[in-house]
Amino acid sequence: TGGSVWEVDCRVVGPQERIVSLYDLSERVSVAKSHADFVANASHELRTPLANVIGYCETLLNPKAGGDEAVRNRFLGTIRHEAQRMQALISDLMSLSRIEAVKHEAPSESVDMVALAHEVAGEFRGGAPVSVRANCTSAVIAGDRGQLSQVLRNLIDNARKYGRPEGLVEVSVEAASTGWVLVTVRDEGEGIPPEHLPRVTERFYRADTSRSRAAGGTGLGLSIVKHIVERHRGRFDIESRQGVGTTASLMLPLRTVD
Ligand code: ADP
Repeated sequence: TGGSVWEVDCRVVGPQERIVSLYDLSERVSVAKSHADFVANASHELRTPLANVIGYCETLLNPKAGGDEAVRNRFLGTIRHEAQRMQALISDLMSLSRIEAVKHEAPSESVDMVALAHEVAGEFRGGAPVSVRANCTSAVIAGDRGQLSQVLRNLIDNARKYGRPEGLVEVSVEAASTGWVLVTVRDEGEGIPPEHLPRVTERFYRADTSRSRAAGGTGLGLSIVKHIVERHRGRFDIESRQGVGTTASLMLPLRTVD
């Protein structure tokens, strides 16, 4: 059948008897393939900035080319930018592997999503302002505080990166009587074209590659968000209308509400 991988085992158990076993290996093969793709993508993402760093260093070391101070400074600025890209990528790769390592452990800290939204929004200064609104004074979930901060940081960072300059970025926290808290991060940017929307949580998938790279994006932010939300038994969704904006939302099970 399409894309399936089977292993067939046939054992002779008597003159007229055979035991034929069929093993479906499709899932194991597809996991191995996705690991191999991931390593290939990560290597490619690191190799490009590294090649740029080496290229610019070689130019600077060339006695004929390294004289003009303005040019030297420009090249050094590019080397720093490329090194920062690699640093961001390594930091996201380490986050993914830490999340993977604890994915079967239920998170147990009491985390107030209202306080956390204010705290993380307050980290962003300059550029588009981030506002926070909530329909309750606290909404406590059983969570991993560090990971939930990272979710909010990644979503607010995207809203500012891809939003309109000085456009609205709003974080909203709404606790519902159904026992869930809904956290949304909304921007007024260009939005994500519908054909890209279903794939933006895949590792290294970018809707607008040049814009993401220029803004220092690694292509891993939303896949980190999705993994963390899944570990919290929650749901992640992203909606977007071109020319209007994007809303990323998470639903998480509540512990208590005030
Ligand atoms: P990146 O590091 O490239 O921002 P993400 O995984 O965070 O990676 O997002 C994947 C892609 O989804 C981005 O490259 C961008 O094209 C698109 N995207 C994410 N958030 C937004 C948003 N708020 N507005 C428009 N596009 C977005």
